[in-house]
Amino acid sequence: MKIKKVTLHLIGLTLVTPFVSSIGTVKERESILVEIEDEDGRIGWGEVVAFSSPWYTEETIKTCWHMIEDFIAPIVLSMTFDHPSQFAEEISYKLKRNNMAKAAIEGALWDIYAQRKGISLATALGGTKKNIESGVVVGMGSMETVLKTIGAYVNEGYKRVKVKIEPGKDLEVIKVIRQTFPHLPLMADANSAYSLNLVKNLQALDQFGLLMIEQPLESDDIIDHAKLQKELQTPICLDESITSYDDARKAIELGSCKVINIKSGRVGGLTEAVKIHDLCLNHHVPVWCGGMLETGISRAQNIALASLENFTIPGDISASSRYWEQDVIIPEVQVQGGKIEVPTEIGLGYKVNRQFLEQITKSKKSF
Ligand SMILES: [Mg+2]
Repeated sequence: MKIKKVTLHLIGLTLVTPFVSSIGTVKERESILVEIEDEDGRIGWGEVVAFSSPWYTEETIKTCWHMIEDFIAPIVLSMTFDHPSQFAEEISYKLKRNNMAKAAIEGALWDIYAQRKGISLATALGGTKKNIESGVVVGMGSMETVLKTIGAYVNEGYKRVKVKIEPGKDLEVIKVIRQTFPHLPLMADANSAYSLNLVKNLQALDQFGLLMIEQPLESDDIIDHAKLQKELQTPICLDESITSYDDARKAIELGSCKVINIKSGRVGGLTEAVKIHDLCLNHHVPVWCGGMLETGISRAQNIALASLENFTIPGDISASSRYWEQDVIIPEVQVQGGKIEVPTEIGLGYKVNRQFLEQITKSKKSF
């Protein structure tokens, strides 16, 4: 495979509802859509899932543009390779971290690779499931709004609900949700809002039968999480702390978590995501696919990834309409009876709506 052109499209999409977590609020979602053309004119799509500000990880839309323009695009344009994993290996050797920038290019290469093989992206990644269960994330807000929002999603058939918590907005919130929805598969994401001093706050949540508590402690920690897991009945799920296969291996060995949230952007691409999936499968650690308030391109990749067998917990993969008035892909991602069908078409399984893309593009550059 030889790549002849890389085009970056910086876009802005307004969220249907602003998204509030313990660290920040996102109203307008900026993304960089990556279009890659191979020597035979095949087009592959990827997406930078970093946010405009570094609240989730250190990367931003601007740092990713810089990394791709100045380092990653020149490398991919100079390479000849058979499989996206060869690019992943080369780039991880030449460039430290900047995982979301790497993943955006690598995702587009996987799309092209699947097209060249005449198979779907899901099949290329080793996925076997025909459909995946869909979960949804509810941002912070008044108790009334949170309950109303959850009720609406439950009626739409979503299989799992995740709420954001922080100290002071945890016990009461979870208690009221549990009283209203006693059997709802429910989990809480803390985005690192707690410390070991607050172990009692988290122990108080054990009584509510949460599926898991996601990333309670520091975003780069696995040691304290291992201490905390010993004190909690509720399984800990790691998100921010796992940026690579080796992080996952060490966390499993230390007992830092019982579940892992895999986001291909956070771990540097789909190749690394599949490696982490396989590792977790061998260690009986269930995984699920996390969301980044992404457009349909990254969402389509997530659907393909979540079709692998150890993605046994519904992920943050919901319908396009959950986030956008209009998505960049055709058809849009639809949830029916709480499930999303895994496309069987060649490649990503969705087409990019070029006309709409033009309308939302703020700037564009080709290399
Ligand atoms: Mg999270």
